[in-house]
Amino acid sequence: MTKTDILMPGPLLPSTMQALDEAFLIHRLWEQPDRDAFFRDVGPRIRGIATSTGSGPMNAALFGRLPNLEVVSSFGVGYDNVDVAAAAERGIIVTNTPDVLNDEVADLTIGLLLATLRQIPQADRYLRAGHWLKAPLPLSATLRARTVGIVGLGRIGKAIARRLEGFDVAIAYHGRTKQDDVAYPFYATATELAAACDVLIVITPGGASTKHLINADVLKALGPNGVLINVARGSVVDEQALIEALRSGTILSAGLDVFQDEPNVPQELIDMEHVVLLPHIASASVHTRKAMGQLVVDNLISWFGGKGPLTPVPETPWAPTEPPA
Ligand code: NDP
Repeated sequence: MTKTDILMPGPLLPSTMQALDEAFLIHRLWEQPDRDAFFRDVGPRIRGIATSTGSGPMNAALFGRLPNLEVVSSFGVGYDNVDVAAAAERGIIVTNTPDVLNDEVADLTIGLLLATLRQIPQADRYLRAGHWLKAPLPLSATLRARTVGIVGLGRIGKAIARRLEGFDVAIAYHGRTKQDDVAYPFYATATELAAACDVLIVITPGGASTKHLINADVLKALGPNGVLINVARGSVVDEQALIEALRSGTILSAGLDVFQDEPNVPQELIDMEHVVLLPHIASASVHTRKAMGQLVVDNLISWFGGKGPLTPVPETPWAPTEPPA
């Protein structure tokens, strides 16, 4: 049987690539010596894309070179690198990898929160540098008696909230809509939530609708005892405003897993001793990345098996009740 042609713009996990190779004829774009010739000769045969957020933009220009493209299967729950409107216009299905990473990202978020408040990486550096031999580490901040605001109480936000309940802290949230089945206090704006809290955990999607949702006003409302944890996307926080707020003591500290221009991190943040910085690792365990990769493969197998996409993104032209094409 002829295998379906799939384009892979950038490398995925070895286990994912192996599973894709078994089911499909995979064309590795980064290995093509002449991309124009590739798109001319092979482009019309391509019916699917297997990609990830790090593999560059999936936009109208690319779709235009693939006249028979049916589906884009993207690794990661965030898909701000995929122009879903351009895909929808062409009737192209877009899928992501939700849910399989909720627990991993929530675990890391709690770890980052505690590391930031209790200065765990700083304490490790202190010991290794031999300072403990001369004096004990100065006392840290605490999670005790805090109110934690979650900006984006979705799948991952709820997994974070469930864990926080075990820490005996008050929880509140902000989103565009109040959720009827959620008992935590709702705040209609990020600024109002920040004013009511002294920890803000940001876990919304990226993209235009959330750009700089956390700005200078929100940080001011969070206050001098306030801690910002960003595990969403770098674009959601105004990084310059954050640097200024950390410098001036407008907020106490920050724990960041994501940045505006990854993997470039502003030197001002690197130079600050009172922040904890991670290289975008919230879902990055072998276990979870493998599950995400399998979902990329399974979405393509399901689609080309005539069973529809398993996890289409909300903007994609696919109704759950619709029979497979
Ligand atoms: P969901 O879609 O389940 O949840 C997103 C939440 O954000 C919803 O509660 C939504 O509420 C809220 N939201 C969306 N847009 C806005 C807005 N403009 N203003 C305020 N709130 C908004 O997504 P997940 O929980 O599965 O994932 C969330 C995000 O986490 C991903 O899109 C990704 O960007 C990030 N992420 C980061 C990782 C990392 O490695 N650091 C790993 C995994 C995910 P409402 O609709 O009511 O506004």
